[in-house]
Amino acid sequence: MRISNLFTKTSKNIPSDEVSKNAQLLMRAGFVHKVMAGVYAYAPLGLRVLEKIKQIVREEMDSVGGQELIMSSLQKKETWETTGRWDDKAVDIWFKSKLKDGTEVGFAWSHEEAIIEMLKQYLESYKDLPMNVYQFQNKFRNELRSKSGIIRGREFVMKDMYSCSLDEEQHDKFYDDTIKAYNRVFERLGIGSDTYMTFASGGAFTQFSHEFQTICEAGEDTIYIHRQKNIAINEEVMDDASLANLGIKREELEKVKSAEVGNIFNFGTKKSEDMNFAYTNKEGKKQFVFLGSYGIGITRLMGVIVEKFSDEKGLVWPANIAPFKVYLVRIGGEAAVVSADKLYDELTGAGIEVIYDDREAHPGQKFADSELMGIPYRVTVSDRMLETNEYELVERRDGQKMLLTHDQLLAKLN
Ligand code: ATP
Ligand code: MG
Repeated sequence: MRISNLFTKTSKNIPSDEVSKNAQLLMRAGFVHKVMAGVYAYAPLGLRVLEKIKQIVREEMDSVGGQELIMSSLQKKETWETTGRWDDKAVDIWFKSKLKDGTEVGFAWSHEEAIIEMLKQYLESYKDLPMNVYQFQNKFRNELRSKSGIIRGREFVMKDMYSCSLDEEQHDKFYDDTIKAYNRVFERLGIGSDTYMTFASGGAFTQFSHEFQTICEAGEDTIYIHRQKNIAINEEVMDDASLANLGIKREELEKVKSAEVGNIFNFGTKKSEDMNFAYTNKEGKKQFVFLGSYGIGITRLMGVIVEKFSDEKGLVWPANIAPFKVYLVRIGGEAAVVSADKLYDELTGAGIEVIYDDREAHPGQKFADSELMGIPYRVTVSDRMLETNEYELVERRDGQKMLLTHDQLLAKLN
C-alpha cells in the first residue's frame, strides 16, 4: 500500500465531541471515521486490523468444530415473541422499524432466538448433534451511554457462537473446549496475561455466567482478580456467599477496572423449551436441545488493545494484528526513490505487508505518522544511508534503533 493512494489522512485535530482515547487515536491515525456517537466506519487501515482479529477468532472457533454462517440483520417480531424478548420492557436497547405494510421488524441486537429458529428446521435427530455454528456480524443496540469509543458502539461487530448438544455432559465438554479456544484467542491478541475468566451474574441455568474480562482503565466494569488462581469475580456478584462457593478469600483479591471482551452462557434447555427446539433420541423420544452461547466483542477488542498498548506518540499494534508489518520511509532525491521503490517491491514480493510513505513530505511528518499508526517496524531509506548501503530499522514498541545491511534487514523482517 502506497500512502499516496490512501484516501485517509492523519490529523492532529481531535474531534471535540470524542472523549475516549481509543476513538481519538484511531480517528487521528485514519483507522476509523466517526459517523455519530457510538457509530464508527472502518477505513482501510482499521478494516485490516479488524479482519486480522476476526481471522484469529475464526481459526479458533473452527478448531472446536464451529461452522461459520451469517444471519440477517432484519429480524421478525414473532421470533422474539416466543421468549418474551420483543417487548421493549424486556429488552431496552432495541432498534425497530416497520415495513411499508406496517409489519414490525427489528434490527438484530442479538441472534440467539433467530439462530435457534433457523436450526430448528434442520436438526431433528440425535444423529444431528452435537452441532455448533458461529458468525461475525454487526449488532445494533440503542445503548444509553456511548462514551467509550469503539468499546461501546450502537452498531458493532460481534462474534457469536451457539452450541447445540444432546445433554449436559456433551455440552460441558464443548463449553470447556471453548474456554480453551477463548484463552488461545486472547493469547494470540497479546492480552492473554491480562484477561481473566470471571464469574458473573446472568447464569440462566447455572449460578454464574462466565465473562472474559481484560484489565483496562477505560473499561466499564470492575472485577476482583485472583492472580495465582487466574480467575476473577465480577463486582456484581461479589458477596460472601459467592466467595465461599468459589473457595476464595476476599483478602486474596485485587480490585481492577476491566472491559468485558467476551462471555459464555449455559442456557440448559430453558430456551429450547420456550422455542420448542427438540430432537428425537435413540428410543424415539422427544428431548429438548441443550444450548450454549458464546460471544466475543470484535470491535471492542480492537478498542481495548488500543487503550492498553498505545503511548504518547500514538497507536502500538501487537505484530499479529498490525495493519502492516513495515512502514517504509523514503527520504531524499532520485537515488532514494529508486532504492525505496525496489525495496518495497522486494519486501511485498516476499509476502511482507508494507505501507510505503512515498509522499513528498517532511521526514519529521513521516516519522510522526509511522508512530501514530503504530506499525511495528519502521524502515528508512535515505540518500545518506545509501552511501553506506545501510537501512535504519526502528521498532515501534520500544524505539530500539538498528542500522542493517540489505541482507540483515530481510532476515530480520522475515
Ligand atoms: P455489556 O455488559 O458490556 O453491555 P453484554 O453483556 O450486553 O455486554 P453480550 O450481549 O453478551 O454483552 O455481547 C457479547 C460481547 O459483545 C460482550 O462480551 C462484549 O465484548 C461485546 N459487546 C456488547 N455490547 C457491546 C457494545 N455496545 N459495543 C461493542 N461491543 C459490545
Ligand atoms: Mg449490554
